[in-house]
Amino acid sequence: MKHENYDVVVIGGGPAGISAAVAACRQGCFTLIVEREEILGGILKQCIHDGFGLFRYKERLTGPEYAFREQNELNSLPVTVHTSTFLVDICREDEGDGFLMTFVSPDGMLEVRAGAVITATGCRERSGRQIFLHGERPSGIFTAGQAQGFVNLKGYLPGKRIVILGSGDIGLIMARRLTLEGAHVLGVYEIKPEPSGLTRNIAQCLEDYSIPLNLSTTVKSVHGRGRMTGVTICRVDEKLNEIDGTEKNLSCDTLILSVGLIPENEILDKLHVPRDPATSGPEVDQDQMTGLPGLFTCGNAQHVNDLVDYVSESGSMAGRAAAEWAEGRKYTHKAGASIRIKMNRGEGLLYQVPAVINPHGSDPVFYFRAAKTMDGGRLSIKDGRGDEIFSKSFTFLKPPEMERFSLPVSFFQDGSDEFYMDLEEVV
Ligand SMILES: Cc1cc2nc3c(=O)[nH]c(=O)nc-3n(C[C@H](O)[C@H](O)[C@H](O)COP(=O)(O)OP(=O)(O)OC[C@H]3O[C@@H](n4cnc5c(N)ncnc54)[C@H](O)[C@@H]3O)c2cc1C
Repeated sequence: MKHENYDVVVIGGGPAGISAAVAACRQGCFTLIVEREEILGGILKQCIHDGFGLFRYKERLTGPEYAFREQNELNSLPVTVHTSTFLVDICREDEGDGFLMTFVSPDGMLEVRAGAVITATGCRERSGRQIFLHGERPSGIFTAGQAQGFVNLKGYLPGKRIVILGSGDIGLIMARRLTLEGAHVLGVYEIKPEPSGLTRNIAQCLEDYSIPLNLSTTVKSVHGRGRMTGVTICRVDEKLNEIDGTEKNLSCDTLILSVGLIPENEILDKLHVPRDPATSGPEVDQDQMTGLPGLFTCGNAQHVNDLVDYVSESGSMAGRAAAEWAEGRKYTHKAGASIRIKMNRGEGLLYQVPAVINPHGSDPVFYFRAAKTMDGGRLSIKDGRGDEIFSKSFTFLKPPEMERFSLPVSFFQDGSDEFYMDLEEVV
């Protein structure tokens, strides 16, 4: 087995991991980035549509163009890159507060020691099994990302008559992509009364191509032996229960699932890193540090972001903080790292990150999603005594669209042992 030592190791070579490695290296740290695929870029490699980088580069880039810019920056720095290398185990060092990792690589097993670790492992798609899809088990059922990989990377069309279940962004983008490739997309069927994708994707991917969006409707069962021959759809009530008598059979050869993404963190289970149930990602402070000092996370592994610009921003924050941690500069006394003041949330919020604040940390950048669509909303933060310390108004809020704002850390240095954030609808 080979052995290597670094100040900072980044796991995952998507946009979050690349930004993290760039930031750590710029702080003077001896940095390694590890990616299980043959090339860096993460999910961006297969996202050939444009719309990436509007905030970061003030341009409408395609996914590969965005990834290329990020990689150019990485290549200009002395960062070690191991591709086709997969993390199989991570644990605390027997002595000290560093980490010991085991990877499989084309050269065999690799053992790496690091002062700080950043996980940037992205997320995975929910499958038919996770939404209890009933009926036969024919071929022709794909997740939207799988179908995107087939079309954009391998040049295969997954089917000709296509039904899309779920209105997540990847499904909307694939509705357009498959139409452009000559397939007939019968419609997008969404169980909720509102679409889950971005407004711009509803307009640009469905409305512009006259693809129907059917809300409060789901796929009840799948038919076909060998290859799929059709699906039965039906309407649902406000409690999402299927309404008898509303069933309709659709003849199709392919069902594409766009029913949600889950942060990919199973590799951390052994370390018992506290998770935020609202995001399924590790609970981090404003420096992206998890409840395990020295372990940081960023990008979609932390929470599913809507824009890649925010993914890169969280990577840069994690990279800077991990470098300072590894060099012993973060928190004058490392014990300060364990101070994690809970930011409780009210029912108006689907979630907010960070979920904990360290009063010795950096100025926090908050991202949040509203729990429901609001024409106007007022966000407030209260301290432990119930006094409002901050408020901000927003004109229009929808759960699929993330909001961002930043505050000086001094707001959180009043000695409170908890804070409370909520969002109220203002009509
Ligand atoms: C279909 C689709 C369309 C999108 N469209 C837009 C858009 O129009 N505009 C926009 O701004 N954003 C868009 N996004 C969002 C954006 O692309 C993602 O938010 C971003 O790519 C997430 O970056 P990441 O680095 O967190 O994760 P990823 O890009 O998923 O990268 C994670 C990397 O970690 C690696 N990895 C995982 N586990 C391990 C392991 N154990 N060992 C080694 N490596 C590992 C993976 O192979 C992967 O390369 C889209 C996303 C998707 C999926």
